[in-house]
Amino acid sequence: MLYQRSSALFKAAQEVIPGGVNSPVRAFNAVGGTPIFAKSAKGAYVYDEDGNRFIDYINSWGPMLLGHAFPPVVDAVVEKTKQGTSFGMPTAIETEIAELAVSMVPNIDKIRFVNSGTEACMSAIRLARGYTKRDKIIKFSGCYHGHSDSFLIAAGSGAVTFGTPNSPGVTEGTAKDTLLARYNDLDNVKTLVEGNKDEIAAIIIEPVAGNMGCIPPVDGFLEGLRALCDAHNILLIFDEVMTGFRLAKGGVQELMQVDADIVCFGKVVGGGLPVGAFAARNEIMNHLAPLGPVYQAGTLSGNPLAIAAGLAMLKSIHADADLMTRLEAKTKYLHEGMAQALDKNNVTYTINRIGSMISVHFAETAVTDFDSAAEGNNETFKAFFHGMLDRGIYIAPSAFETWFITDALSYEDLNETIAAVEDIAKTL
Ligand SMILES: *Cc1c(COP(=O)(O)O)cnc(C)c1O
Repeated sequence: MLYQRSSALFKAAQEVIPGGVNSPVRAFNAVGGTPIFAKSAKGAYVYDEDGNRFIDYINSWGPMLLGHAFPPVVDAVVEKTKQGTSFGMPTAIETEIAELAVSMVPNIDKIRFVNSGTEACMSAIRLARGYTKRDKIIKFSGCYHGHSDSFLIAAGSGAVTFGTPNSPGVTEGTAKDTLLARYNDLDNVKTLVEGNKDEIAAIIIEPVAGNMGCIPPVDGFLEGLRALCDAHNILLIFDEVMTGFRLAKGGVQELMQVDADIVCFGKVVGGGLPVGAFAARNEIMNHLAPLGPVYQAGTLSGNPLAIAAGLAMLKSIHADADLMTRLEAKTKYLHEGMAQALDKNNVTYTINRIGSMISVHFAETAVTDFDSAAEGNNETFKAFFHGMLDRGIYIAPSAFETWFITDALSYEDLNETIAAVEDIAKTL
């Protein structure tokens, strides 16, 4: 494939945008080469500025669960735009999406819409701190909760890829209130809780991790966290920015039958426009301004275009009885096909999968936490990534990312992907 226009565009971008990208995960630092500039996308495919077509396994890093340029979303946005793009006043459609979200997600009474997953998580811990009147939080190594200061401590994917697990600019004062635990290690969390009695406001977790590759919780882990939080009056926050409306219509709370106290959303909930949200029961949510003292606001929060996109997306998901089954079947098919291709060629690998999330790790041992994810062979990943790209398959340019399976993928697309893996496996 030729990337002449992408190369020229990247050169120009680097002059005026730091690193040529508006989010570091889009750069190819971890794999080498030049980022591809997207021109358009439809269904399962993204087309670049050079006219190349790729089967897309990033899908805007999650939102495009139903494929690119999904007609109900596009139509909703186009229609809304004609009526004005922002008012800074409440609109009927905000109540409509809130009602639908509250009906789909277990254990929540109210939901507040914001503009990104970062904002949702940042606001969720402020609310948790305001509610519990405690300062400290526990997060897990390798989990990403957006780029607000409190979370940029061993933050997974982007941050790890760029070798800055703890970002400069985060003050020591902020960092000291974030305690780090090991994913899937309940005893480790217990020790932290015991050592900081009555000081911990919240435990925040990706209930299925997706920012160190895809790592599901081991049996009993989420239930254990729930019990620990109940015993110590700590709020359990599920960051479902990646998993919400994806792994089940009600997210991981529904899938694994564990209740969280606050849930964060992003990605799918906006259908490809900038939307985030956080939600909880009344008892907690009523602490938020203007009802309560915990302040949180946004000029463009609940923006009609973004909400129109999100509402069209949620309605489509809600109405589709077989969606989750189809997504899981496609992901399983891809898993089995890739495993066969890699086995045949004696490649060392581990594949993790749940629902429509899947990740390939070039590691010998099970990948269950950040350390085991980091064991993967990055040289093999680089060769794999570029091999896939050259064969028209676009996966995330980092070994610490999950792949996102979209309903727009056909079995032909999956077969083409498996054939590419088989072809590359011979060279790994
Ligand atoms: C993407 C992501 C975020 C951040 O969302 P942005 O919209 O990029 O700010 C937070 N948490 C998780 C689990 C994510 O995957």
